Amino acid sequence: MIAQNLHAVQARIADACVKAQRPLDAVTLLAVSKTFGPEAVQEAYAAGQTQFGENYIQEAVQKITALRHLPLQWHCIGPIQSNKTRVVAEHFDWVHTVDRLKIAQRLSEQRPSHLLPLQVCIQVNVDGGATKSGVAPQEALALAQQVATLPGLRLRGVMSIPEPATDFIAACAVFARVKAVFNALNAQGLALDTVSMGMSADMEAAVQSGSTMVRVGTAIFGGRTKPAA
Ligand SMILES: *Cc1c(COP(=O)(O)O)cnc(C)c1O
Repeated sequence: MIAQNLHAVQARIADACVKAQRPLDAVTLLAVSKTFGPEAVQEAYAAGQTQFGENYIQEAVQKITALRHLPLQWHCIGPIQSNKTRVVAEHFDWVHTVDRLKIAQRLSEQRPSHLLPLQVCIQVNVDGGATKSGVAPQEALALAQQVATLPGLRLRGVMSIPEPATDFIAACAVFARVKAVFNALNAQGLALDTVSMGMSADMEAAVQSGSTMVRVGTAIFGGRTKPAA
């Protein structure tokens, strides 16, 4: 089932790339395995998936540890409290949710020197949801420039989790704001390559709008019935 779902998602992404006149390899699929156990990750891996996204640090670390024998890349896509930065720096390959300098500094200091730099994205809030994390677009450049100087980190791009839009056109309009932030940072010389946006329901609009990494959970693993660990 997971293998079939994965192939269906890959086909959706490929179709969206064709429609957007983008190369088929322009978009990386991140499989969001939160709330699912290591067996589900293993099943996806057997079907060729190697990049996995997790929201809940504690739950993720158990999975990462259990699956250490597999060549997987783990992406932290959930909020990070200061007291969790060490375990994140020690276990993940990517962090998409850097939204303040203090978190980036801690990740930088705590990244073990024997590991590759932690690949990071700045989380941007383009639709102003008051309770949502992410920096305002006009604050993204200052944060990105500071993060780019930190040892142990490599700044790769921007990430966003907009509110679900009512239709394709509206979704594209919101995603375009994220892409505009990405373009503005690159115009300042940051050489970024990653726009992390799009989920199960809106990956086509995200690809149309320039996403380079879609984060897909439900369409691969099914509905989440369990609460977060
Ligand atoms: C859960 C989650 C996803 C995946 O969402 P689906 O709708 O299940 O595809 C993507 N990104 C983030 C940040 C998430 O928390």
